[in-house]
Amino acid sequence: MVYLDNAATTAMSEVALTALMEVSANSYGNPSSVYRAGRKTKNILEESRKIIADCIGAEPEEIYFTSCGTESDNWVMTNAADKVEKIITSAVEHHAILYPAENMRSQGKKVVLLPVDRNCLISMSELSAVLDKEPTLVSVMLQNNEVGAIQDVTEIARLVHEDNSESLVHTDAVQAVGHIRIDVKEMDIDLLSASAHKFNGPKGVGFLYINKKCSIAPYIIGGGQENGMRSGTENVAGIYSMAKALEDNVANMDSIHTHISTLESLLCDLLEEQNIDFEINGDSLSRAVGILNISIHGNDGEGLLNMLDMHDICISIGSACNSKSQDRSHVLLAMGLDEERIDSSVRISIGRYNTEDEIKELVKWITNCHKLAKIAET
Ligand code: PLP
Repeated sequence: MVYLDNAATTAMSEVALTALMEVSANSYGNPSSVYRAGRKTKNILEESRKIIADCIGAEPEEIYFTSCGTESDNWVMTNAADKVEKIITSAVEHHAILYPAENMRSQGKKVVLLPVDRNCLISMSELSAVLDKEPTLVSVMLQNNEVGAIQDVTEIARLVHEDNSESLVHTDAVQAVGHIRIDVKEMDIDLLSASAHKFNGPKGVGFLYINKKCSIAPYIIGGGQENGMRSGTENVAGIYSMAKALEDNVANMDSIHTHISTLESLLCDLLEEQNIDFEINGDSLSRAVGILNISIHGNDGEGLLNMLDMHDICISIGSACNSKSQDRSHVLLAMGLDEERIDSSVRISIGRYNTEDEIKELVKWITNCHKLAKIAET
């Protein structure tokens, strides 16, 4: 298999796998139990919290474990949004933000969806224009999952907090954590969502950073775990594995970045060499390496995906969650791309374990499919 859909999910790293197995096998005490086996597991939990906090510049007590990025996003959009009358978000957010935003609108809240430009970036002047003295929740994703655009969340937080200390800034950093440097204090973010399976950790575990100055209501109530904020016995093995995955990705970030960037350039060079007529969607200086959304003229994106699948090559159209749906990507539509360009687009997302040979294999099959499409046209 050639796996080039790392924005959908990633392979677990060696350290993450080892951590998962070690804790599952040896530390199965309930972290809420008072005896030694429970205390041992509780220590693993707190060590994980500290590792994660260090990786994003937070304090350990500001990290709350959740089951995934969607849960972290939903927690913010229901409970933090509950405290304000106005919510500002962008048109290109993940549905884990957009659907709860719609719910808040139907409950009578004022919801503003900021538009984006051709590069998938919001405009700071448009944001400023909709900010006022009213306490507001502003949620803008750090890195877009479909085109890799990186929003200037530091500037967003500065504008929001400038004249309004009661407003909250949330960022869905599910695609960014473990891939780009993040310091929540320097960026002045109040809330941040993350998910382990996007940074070579296990599935079914994530976290929400909540700045200790903010008070938001608990999400799941019951046994009082996570300081009463998110009840339910913690997935300790998954959490420790997530912490080790993040620590490893952050420690190796520069070399991983260089590797992915080399593969991305190779991919573009080879496509050009093969005379494939393609354009990068969201090509700007503010794009993450590794997420390459391209439109190949004369090709049907879905057809290409299916043909590549026959050769066991995994890529995607739109986001993983809606790649089976007939709907055009809300992100590419918001960027103002025309239907032909959207329908011929595919997302190739490169990860730390991809190789040059895999990129060559991908280009070989894209070229073949492209030739077939051309023959079919004539
Ligand atoms: N936010 C973004 C930007 C994502 O890319 C995803 C997953 O694709 C999510 C949220 C949801 O994360 P999870 O799959 O952990 O629920």
